[in-house]
Amino acid sequence: MDNMINGFTAGSYKDRNTNFQYSRERERGSEVQPFTDLELQAVPEKDRRWSWVEIDRGAIQHNVMVTRKLLGERCRLMAVVKADAYGHGAVEVAKIAISAGASFLGVATIDEGIQLRDAGLREPILLLAEPPVESVPLLLHYHIIPSVYTPDFAINYAEIADAHNMKAPYHLAINTGMNRIGVRFDQVIEFLSQVSFHRALDLQGCFTHFATADAPETLDFQIQINRFVESMRALEAAGINPGIVHCDNSAAIYRFPKTHFDMARLGISLYGYQPANDTHRIVQLRPAMSVFARITNVIQVPMSEGVSYGMNYRSPGSVKICTVPVGYADGLIRLLSGQIKFAYQDRAVNQVGNICMDQCMFEVDIRSRANQRTLDPQIGDLVQIAGPNAMVDTSIDTMAKKAATIQHEVTIGFSHRMPRYYV
Ligand SMILES: *Cc1c(COP(=O)(O)O)cnc(C)c1O
Repeated sequence: MDNMINGFTAGSYKDRNTNFQYSRERERGSEVQPFTDLELQAVPEKDRRWSWVEIDRGAIQHNVMVTRKLLGERCRLMAVVKADAYGHGAVEVAKIAISAGASFLGVATIDEGIQLRDAGLREPILLLAEPPVESVPLLLHYHIIPSVYTPDFAINYAEIADAHNMKAPYHLAINTGMNRIGVRFDQVIEFLSQVSFHRALDLQGCFTHFATADAPETLDFQIQINRFVESMRALEAAGINPGIVHCDNSAAIYRFPKTHFDMARLGISLYGYQPANDTHRIVQLRPAMSVFARITNVIQVPMSEGVSYGMNYRSPGSVKICTVPVGYADGLIRLLSGQIKFAYQDRAVNQVGNICMDQCMFEVDIRSRANQRTLDPQIGDLVQIAGPNAMVDTSIDTMAKKAATIQHEVTIGFSHRMPRYYV
């Protein structure tokens, strides 16, 4: 008895543990009863951790349909579903977008393309980059169309295709001034004449990408569009069919109706975000992503005690501090610590203290006020972390603005760890 510590017999740490376990079992005089698969499967996914992402199918359908209407009958719509559909789930979004009128899919990597094919999608897929030549067998096997701009890739691609009695379809990427990828606009004819000897090569489209389609100042945009038109005229003069001509991203689709050509590439606005400050006058979009959580802890913190790492928030005393299991590993940008609001029972509550990796805190004012219901937060209560809300600005637009970034980066961030539900 004299060498008991916290109810354990003192000894080496290891011995203590083993003795503890075995002695408890012996006390009960029974064997461990393992859980059945059924019992394990019965744990709802939503109750493994109280935070999740909801994707509004209707919103994605709406965004495709209003955009289709603006584009008209003769212009195709490409759903850009790269980066797991900006965090919304590539396969689901691709299916929804196609059912609503998209007819082309855009990806950034071969694996993103393969994922769509494995899910049974049969629409044309454009890889918005030129991949390493080693990847050509995958392109051809999975019918993923590459963007091409180096003669070296073009010729290798054609030769591998030819050796398998296949065609080598591609879209020509043209650099009109963004200076990221592409054949320079005034070298398009030269490029094509360098590779045209190869019979397998099949030019199915020509495109460029705008660097400033969302900017109020349109001079740089004008230069790019003029250069693009110039390169298309050069093709025409040379008797070369450019295939599907396309250049518009979301911002250009709404701001520059004259640049639609044969196809438009809808990215951020497919997910419901205004791509520029002035586009809300042209198109009504519906954000598809929301992030929700349930409260996992509620405490009243004495006045002036700190909350979270760094303690740069101090309790004013009249608040309850609530914890939710959403952190920067889930995409809640740490830079936004203390800068954002959540929606709790239709009221705005301030996120307070530094956002941690897996959790963060918010405060609920518990003082009673005239004509306002006093809040009484409980463990398990629902909180909206991000996304459209009629009462509180929890919008991803505001988050992006406050974090000095674009909506793309915010939605992509929310993709990593939380389960996603389509509603
Ligand atoms: C990502 C991407 C798009 C989509 O841009 P948004 O601004 O999100 O609409 C279009 N075209 C290319 C080449 C892209 O890389």
